[in-house]
Amino acid sequence: MSTKRLVMVVEDEAGIRDMISTLLIANGYSVVTAENGHSAITLIASYNPDIILLDLGLPDMDGLEVLRTVRHWSAVPVIVVSARGQESEKVEALDAGAGDYIVKPFGTEELLARLRATLRYTERMVQGSMVSDVYNVGGLRVDFGKRVVTVDGKDVHLTQIEFKILALLCKDAGRVLTYEYICRNVWGPYSSRDNQILRVNVANIRHKIEKNPAQPKYILTEIGVGYRLVEALKEDEETDSD
Ligand code: CA
Repeated sequence: MSTKRLVMVVEDEAGIRDMISTLLIANGYSVVTAENGHSAITLIASYNPDIILLDLGLPDMDGLEVLRTVRHWSAVPVIVVSARGQESEKVEALDAGAGDYIVKPFGTEELLARLRATLRYTERMVQGSMVSDVYNVGGLRVDFGKRVVTVDGKDVHLTQIEFKILALLCKDAGRVLTYEYICRNVWGPYSSRDNQILRVNVANIRHKIEKNPAQPKYILTEIGVGYRLVEALKEDEETDSD
């Protein structure tokens, strides 16, 4: 696609704002910036950006308030960029409608990767086809239609529930899904809020698909928040597989 994606950077600290803007422009994005919550809301309405990087600590209002306000009329993907690394804050941001979050300080590669993942996810949603029928990462292959999972070409036998969890994570690969979100989607809206049964199931999946379940490379834990399926393995991890 030749059109540049427009990223809105909402950040009150000029140094960080400039750093992010420069990075994004160098990587082929267009950028519009806002330094407080009120101007962010106005600019989002007029520019209709493709994605928003949203700082939580803004001078005039909390970033989450910006997010909640924007969610009344826009489904624009939002990545929260925050110095608040507490799990409860992350969960709150994701539940308020953030697509992802990044904790400051962050690496530039991480920021770009999260941005790409969130944009890709949103585009799949818009196109109406969440994903192709098959998900591949490293040696892991999940065929949604046939409900077949293989690792390095070998069949893996998952229970119905385990398959549902893995499929959900694959369809949102690269994004962290909260415990509550996963439970709601797998066990239904009235599922218990106890995460223990989810943890047990994820442990079982890891035993079946991970070479070393104690150091998983496919399903990553975001402690206190949820799980994230990797989008791509790091090269060293892929090459040491035999
Ligand atoms: Ca700030």
